[in-house]
Amino acid sequence: MESLIFICPKTDKPIDVGVETEIGTLLRIRKNIMRSRCNACGEVHEWPVRDAYLAEAA
Ligand SMILES: [Zn+2]
Repeated sequence: MESLIFICPKTDKPIDVGVETEIGTLLRIRKNIMRSRCNACGEVHEWPVRDAYLAEAA
């Protein structure tokens, strides 16, 4: 499994939203919006899934 990573629009930091997925699932949900609290700036952001990238889970 891989982690979905979004870029915080305020700090430009990569945020691991705590969602693990695989590429097949990601392609199915790419039109969705992920809503999550950002652990860089503390605000809640809405990110289009298609803007996310995948990182190997440690
Ligand atoms: Zn943020």
